[in-house]
Amino acid sequence: MPSKKAAPRTSGAVVAEKPCSGQMVIRGGSVFTAADSFKADLLIRKGKIVEISECVSAAGPVEVIDARGLEVYPGGVDVHTHFDLPFMGTVSADDFESGTTAAACGGTTTIIDFVIPSKGRSVLEALETWKAKAAGKAVVDYGFHMALVEFNDQVAAEIPKVVAEGITSFKCFLAYKGAFMVDDLQFLGVLNAAKKHGALVSIHAENGDILAYLMKQLTDEGKTAAQYHPIAHPAAAEAEATHRGIELARMAGAPLYIVHLSCNEALEEVKAARCRGQLVLAETCPQYLLLDDSLYRGNGFEAAKWVMSPPLREKAGQEKLWQGLRDGFIQGVATDHCSFNFSGQKDMGKDTFLKIPNGIPAVGDRMNLLYTYGVAKGKLSRNQFAAVVATNPARIFGLSPAKGTIAVGSDADLVLFDPKKKGRISKATSRHRVDYSAFEGFELSGMAALVLSRGRVVSKDGAFTGTKGAGRFIKRSASDARQWS
Ligand SMILES: [Zn+2]
Repeated sequence: MPSKKAAPRTSGAVVAEKPCSGQMVIRGGSVFTAADSFKADLLIRKGKIVEISECVSAAGPVEVIDARGLEVYPGGVDVHTHFDLPFMGTVSADDFESGTTAAACGGTTTIIDFVIPSKGRSVLEALETWKAKAAGKAVVDYGFHMALVEFNDQVAAEIPKVVAEGITSFKCFLAYKGAFMVDDLQFLGVLNAAKKHGALVSIHAENGDILAYLMKQLTDEGKTAAQYHPIAHPAAAEAEATHRGIELARMAGAPLYIVHLSCNEALEEVKAARCRGQLVLAETCPQYLLLDDSLYRGNGFEAAKWVMSPPLREKAGQEKLWQGLRDGFIQGVATDHCSFNFSGQKDMGKDTFLKIPNGIPAVGDRMNLLYTYGVAKGKLSRNQFAAVVATNPARIFGLSPAKGTIAVGSDADLVLFDPKKKGRISKATSRHRVDYSAFEGFELSGMAALVLSRGRVVSKDGAFTGTKGAGRFIKRSASDARQWS
């Protein structure tokens, strides 16, 4: 059989007997899914996994990847990015090309970005705008959530059409008063309409009125430096909005997904809901697990690098979030990647933190960070890692079974981790198109060595080997959230 003639292999190296044959074997890796751990070969044909067994042998030409010594996981699924987003008077620095390139090099093979329509504008039109931003640029597959910044008869009429386009999740902001924020009445309208059409609603859970009140108070007192941003975004405001969102979802009889949960106060609200049987799901982000609010203090305007909403929290709460992941109260880790250059964008807020564009770059770092600080440090099992970075988000947002798992019939979206490979996060090696790294200097122990998107090698040892525009728009199915009820 052709595979027996393979040349001597080095770990993780692509040994092409006849490249571009359309057939590939990932040989001898340790495979980890959310449910299982086993040693196996994977046979890939036309971008899909067609056989999983102890020793596959393919007829005809085949490309062989030696995965001995490597750990094979489902390609990462990051369900929270903002590429090419007009926001706070500027546009996020990474577009769909640089953003998905960074994702690919870091082991993420599917992203879901947010369409954020302007008020008074057709949401279907906004969807076309976002599709145009991604088409021809994205290097890995992508889908969209639809943010709803208002609810009225026109929006209600468009919701079923949006769902029919494969946009099966909506997001409401309970923060950003005067911009994206919806009030409770509008939010109830969204919950009911989405439920009717089988779509999942997610929320940015911060109380926008509390934030507006604190921003004015701080400004009146002349406290406008970057260090005051977290003071204007207290954990209590997140806990309140989380609680209220949960209660409104309970009244509507609808499931709810909390994006970027940052603190134990909000996690306690999720736990209380789950313990009484309500279907509430949540994601957190690497920044809330690994960075803390000390970065805002004694750092001068450098603090602006970490201005995001919700802000970084006390270090003491981080272990609670890790525990929440292990206990299954938090189902996934996404990034909320929304990058702005420190020079030229973040510094729009030199005079007041109110004008610092909110967000950090993270999409390329998520998998390596979660592997090192989750798996290697013993905080997550390898199966839990697969679950929170890929399987759960794929199931919650209707990407399964094509994405998020390793199974016959699934897309060959894979990330091969080298557990021995060491590295360090740095702006110098980052693929993010932005002038700083939010995780500068973080040591890595275990890194994504080879990344495949539908059977194509899109990254090797952190270098990009994919193709601009090769990513496809994914029409998502209805959410599989009910499996958690
Ligand atoms: Zn976001």
